[in-house]
Amino acid sequence: MFENLSERLGGVFDRLTKQGALSEDDVKTALREVRVALLEADVSLPVARDFVKAIQDKATGQAVTKSITPGQQVVKIVHDELVHVLTGEGDPGALKIDNAPAPILMVGLQGSGKTTTTGKLAKRLTEKNGKRVLMASLDIYRPAAQQQLAILGTQIGVDTLPIVAGESAVQIAKRAKQQATLGGYDVYMLDTAGRLHIDETLMQEVEDVRNAVNPRETLLVVDGLTGQVAVEVAEEFDAKVGITGVVLTRMDGDGRGGAALSMRAVTGKPIRFVGLGEKMDALDTFEPDRIAGRILGMGDIVALVEKAQETIEAAQAERMMKRFQKGQFNMNDLKSQLEQMIKMGGMEGIMGMMPGMGKMAKQAQGAGMDDKVLTRQIALIQSMTKKERANPALLQASRKKRIAKGAGLEVSDLNKLLKMQRQMGDMMKKMGKGGMLKQAMKGMF
Ligand code: GDP
Repeated sequence: MFENLSERLGGVFDRLTKQGALSEDDVKTALREVRVALLEADVSLPVARDFVKAIQDKATGQAVTKSITPGQQVVKIVHDELVHVLTGEGDPGALKIDNAPAPILMVGLQGSGKTTTTGKLAKRLTEKNGKRVLMASLDIYRPAAQQQLAILGTQIGVDTLPIVAGESAVQIAKRAKQQATLGGYDVYMLDTAGRLHIDETLMQEVEDVRNAVNPRETLLVVDGLTGQVAVEVAEEFDAKVGITGVVLTRMDGDGRGGAALSMRAVTGKPIRFVGLGEKMDALDTFEPDRIAGRILGMGDIVALVEKAQETIEAAQAERMMKRFQKGQFNMNDLKSQLEQMIKMGGMEGIMGMMPGMGKMAKQAQGAGMDDKVLTRQIALIQSMTKKERANPALLQASRKKRIAKGAGLEVSDLNKLLKMQRQMGDMMKKMGKGGMLKQAMKGMF
């Protein structure tokens, strides 16, 4: 997400931060470029204008802090302003679901990802918040829409309201409420019908449902790739039925990102979650600080650390460190490192989160260093015997041939892998001696 915007801004600020002293003209030129970059990312004109003006005002009056360059100072101001523009009130992930059963109404256009998001959110509420959730589809128009939700429910282990043919949306909503009350559910989620465009009948139906259940949260699901349109849709839904927040989907795609920046400024409604893929766990709370970091291309170390924390047990890390310090780094270690990389979002995911690495991730991909390479390397290791994994020095020509064949690859691929294992082992040993390994791993885990 935000690729183009991030690249454009990155370019502007790269130039700025390299200069020791900034003239007023430098800042003006940079801000003009920022404004163009925002407009190209489909940020609405008034928002872009206000944004640039706020930065200009703050940058002009500010005393230059010692030890950082004026350019760096501007970057900080821009970062803070981005956070400001993106921030709503309170915690985006904290839904009002205290009085059980709490109704959550999911609204949006057809194809925006409403049903998928309903499932993702139900899963999240169940697993992260320990809530008992009931889902119901109110889509009586699209054939099999109700079945789609039922199947999704089975997949993620969340109950769905039994389907009764011939009911109206309001009748289903009322039945969901009843069932949620009788069944002791904490939350019931109503996945309303979407249309291709906003129309009166659709709005009326959503209004009727809203009046019937009085939802605690009404979340609008919009496609983040549609930029300005997403913001317009949000304005219309809010005016007609009232929404409490927005979920931006498809933020995994390389959309222009403008919707995220304009949403709160134009509609006054906070973005609560972002959809980051088709899988059921590809939903994140919307964290302005983190998103601002990504937009600016200055990296997101917080996310890197968090992901690493989630995926690696501290004890395992400690054990590994001790072995690495002694220079023991075999194929099993390499395999778990490679698997770790895939878990953390692959090459692109990891590099994208490190400052200044966004561009490198792209180059790496161009050079064939993508996730496929990681999977192939793991396949090679899997094709080794236990002994070979523990002691790669055993690998002579005939063994190499067998292993490469087993993984459907060439011996040259295996040689590359061996070189990598040796280099990583050496590096770990060196780092271990200087105490740097401990330092590096502390930062990671
Ligand atoms: P609905 O008509 O609004 O209920 O839309 P669906 O939930 O059926 O989603 C439409 C399509 O978008 C499906 O293929 C989903 O897998 C896909 N989709 C939903 N959310 C996301 C997302 O965040 N990222 C990506 N890449 N695809 C998504």
